[in-house]
Amino acid sequence: MDSTPPFDLTGRLALVTGSSRGIGNALASGLARAGASVVLHGLDADRLERSRLALAEKFGKDRVDAVAFNITDEGSVARGIAHIEENLGALDILVNNAGIQHRVPLLDLAVEDWNRVISTDLTSAFLVGREVARRMLPRKRGKIINIGSVQSDLARPTIGAYTAAKGGLRNLTRAMTAEWAGEGLQINAVAPGYIHTEMTQPLVDDEAFNSWICKRTPAARWGTVDDLTGPVQWLASDASAYVNGQTIFIDGGMTAVV
Ligand code: NDP
Repeated sequence: MDSTPPFDLTGRLALVTGSSRGIGNALASGLARAGASVVLHGLDADRLERSRLALAEKFGKDRVDAVAFNITDEGSVARGIAHIEENLGALDILVNNAGIQHRVPLLDLAVEDWNRVISTDLTSAFLVGREVARRMLPRKRGKIINIGSVQSDLARPTIGAYTAAKGGLRNLTRAMTAEWAGEGLQINAVAPGYIHTEMTQPLVDDEAFNSWICKRTPAARWGTVDDLTGPVQWLASDASAYVNGQTIFIDGGMTAVV
């Protein structure tokens, strides 16, 4: 009988985009906790190096690397992924996490800002996913996890471009599945609800918004980054071997109720 725990990621190599900080950094840490070697990623080289040092201190420098490239630029993505595969090893896991937000009503939304959000939050997952899949497909194995949002399913005023991008990401997850699942790849998405992070601290401190979130969420609380690491470990591991094309909402039930 195989006694390896089903969530074990020992010996696997994972790239998490946008992991120099925020949710991506917590997800990379979670994958490392499950045994994976991780490649941290971001744009700002100094911030990325600080994050690499912090994670390497926890998990050992042989299991933590960092590579900076712009996920919105096709050439940068090709060079970044080639660098990883040639110097660090074959990627088993890709988490398309990097993303940005831009809050303005649709009538005031400039097309440059629309394009910037769509390109960072949606086109990037196609570019990085395609480049990684080009290597994973001949190996007939690989996990791609796209990070959506409750906006993959629901809309809110003032974040139209983000909502369109995250909805698109849900269907890109299905499109990748339609073409690549037969060749041994599993592509799924995790859609976080409202997560208490440094970035959302002002919203937590806003009494009216905080009380709306707690009433609107069946679990009656904000999510934490720790609520996301288990589902991502599961989707990255052999335990999810027959899960394909799904978007798993980690939102305390927000998208289950009106
Ligand atoms: P942060 O703003 O904290 O971090 C964004 C990361 O993406 C950084 O590492 C940043 O790098 C990187 N990044 C941004 N643009 C680029 C680019 N063009 N090329 C390379 N790297 C880039 O994000 P969050 O942790 O808040 O969000 C992470 C993901 O989770 C996003 O997809 C977001 O939509 C999703 N999400 C977040 C929620 C929340 O409550 N925060 C809720 C639901 C979903 P650098 O540090 O160099 O700038």
